[in-house]
Amino acid sequence: MAEKQHIDRTPMPEQPPNERIKNFEEVALGYTHEEALREANRCLQCKKPGCVQGCPVHVPIPEFIALIRQRRFAEACLKIREVNLMPGVCGRVCPQEKQCEQVCILGKKHKPVAIGRLERFAADWFMRQGENGELSRLPETGRSVAIIGSGPSGLSCAYDLARSGHRVTVFEALHEAGGVLIYGIPEFRLPNEIVQRELYLLEHLGVEIVKNAVVGKLITLDELTREFDACFIGVGAGLPRFMGVPGEELNGVYSANEFLTRVNLMRAYRFPEYDTPIKRGDRVVVVGGGNVAMDAVRTALRLGAKEAVILYRRSMAELPAREEEVEHAKQEGVRFELCTAPVRLIGRDGWVKEIECVRMDLRGMDESGRRRPVPIEGSNFTIPADIVVVAIGTKANPLLTTSVKGLKLNERGYIVVDEETGQTNLPGIFAGGDIVTGSATVISAMGAGRRAARAINEFLK
Ligand code: FAD
Ligand code: SF4
Repeated sequence: MAEKQHIDRTPMPEQPPNERIKNFEEVALGYTHEEALREANRCLQCKKPGCVQGCPVHVPIPEFIALIRQRRFAEACLKIREVNLMPGVCGRVCPQEKQCEQVCILGKKHKPVAIGRLERFAADWFMRQGENGELSRLPETGRSVAIIGSGPSGLSCAYDLARSGHRVTVFEALHEAGGVLIYGIPEFRLPNEIVQRELYLLEHLGVEIVKNAVVGKLITLDELTREFDACFIGVGAGLPRFMGVPGEELNGVYSANEFLTRVNLMRAYRFPEYDTPIKRGDRVVVVGGGNVAMDAVRTALRLGAKEAVILYRRSMAELPAREEEVEHAKQEGVRFELCTAPVRLIGRDGWVKEIECVRMDLRGMDESGRRRPVPIEGSNFTIPADIVVVAIGTKANPLLTTSVKGLKLNERGYIVVDEETGQTNLPGIFAGGDIVTGSATVISAMGAGRRAARAINEFLK
C-alpha cells in the first residue's frame, strides 16, 4: 500500500474543457483536504531533499509538507511565507516541473511530489480563513528604500526590506500593483484576487504603494535617490517585439501585451460593464510558442473565437511553453501549426483577413542551441484570420533606464548588475528581475528581489 501511494500522483481537479472555454474562471480547481493529505503523504521527507535546492528561493519544502500531513495547514502556509511572499501565486504559475519537482528524489522512480499543488493548497486554505497571520518585523531602522516597479521582483524585495524594519515605498506606473501577475497572466490561470490578497500582506507591513507613478517621466530616479537611502529597479521587460513582416500595421493585429492587458487588467471581457473595447473574431492566429502565446490563444477562445491557431516556427519538441499549458490548450481545441512562420499579413479595408505562412525545415543548430528553422521554398499557404496576436517575446523598456545618467546597460538595453547582490554600477541603486535577465519567470524575479534586499540591508548598515 505504501509503495502504491508513492506511485500515483494525485490529479488536480479541473473544469472540463467544453465548459471552461465559455468562462474566465480558474481551470485548476485546487486540492481538497483529502487530496492534499494523500499527496503530502507521498513525500519521503528526505534528509537531503533535492527539491529545496531546485527552488530559486529555497522554500522549506519538506517542512511545509510535513505540516500539511499533520493537518496544520495555516502553519504550512506561514512556513512558506518565511521566504516567499506569494505562495498562492507561485503554487499556480511556477514551472515546478523544471525546478523543485524536477529534482524531487521521489521523481527518480515515480512521479515527483506535486509540490506546487500543495503550496497552492496551503495558501488557499489560509486565505479562505480570512487570516493574514502575524509576520515578524524588526524594529524601525529610520532608513528608507524606493522600489520602482511592483512586479514579483519589486514586491519580494519590498517584503524582505519592510520586515527588516526599513520604510519602503513602491512606485508603479500602472493603476494596479502586481506587474505581469496582474496585467499579463489571465484570470483562468491566476485570478487577480489571489494576487491582491497576497499583496495585502505588504500593506500589513506598512509598505506604501504609489500607483500611476511612471519613474523616468513623472518622477526621476535622481529625485528618488535624494529622498530615499537606496533604490531597487524592477521594471520588467514589457516592450513588445514585432515580426517585421508586411501588413503588421493592419487593424486587428495586437501585441500579446496589449491583447492580454486589455482583457486582464482592463477587463475587456466584461465589456460594456468595463468600457475597454477589444476586437472579437471567429478566427484568431497567435504567433509564438511560449507561455504568453498559450495565454493569448486560450484568452481568444474564451472571447468567442471558433478557430484558434498557434503558429510556431519550430516543432513541438522546442515549444517553450509549460507542458501543462500546452496540454490545456490542446484539450480546449487550439490548433497547432508547427514548423510554420508568417510571411505577410493580408488585409481588406484596413483590417487583417489572412496570414500568409511558409513551412520550415529544421536543420543544424543555432546560437541558442535549438534547431535552426529554414523556410521550405514553394510551401507558402494562407490561414484566414480576423485577429492576429504577436507573442514572439519582449525586450527592455528604455523609458526609465535611458533616463538615468551613467547607468550601465548591456548591448540589448538590460541593466548590468552584480549577480549576487543586484548592485548596479551606481552606488545605492540595485536592480533585478526581467530588466536584468530578460523575460524569465516569476520565481527567478522573486529570487533576484530577495538577493537585492539582502544586499540593500548590508548597504544601509
Ligand atoms: P514585471 O512583472 O514585468 O513587473 C514590472 C512592473 O514595473 C510592472 O508593473 C510595470 O508596470 C512597472 N514599471 C515599468 N516601468 C516602470 C516605470 N518607469 N516606473 C514605474 N513602474 C514601472 N512566469 C512564470 O514563472 N510562470 C508563468 O506561467 C508565466 N506566465 C507568463 C505569462 C505572461 C502573459 C507573461 C507576459 C509573462 C509570464 N511569465 C511567467 C513571466 C513572469 O511573469 C515574469 O518573468 C515576471 O513577472 C518578471 O517580474 P519583474 O518583477 O521583473 O517584472
Ligand atoms: Fe519530499 Fe521530493 Fe522534497 Fe524528498 S525531494 S522531501 S520526496 S518533495
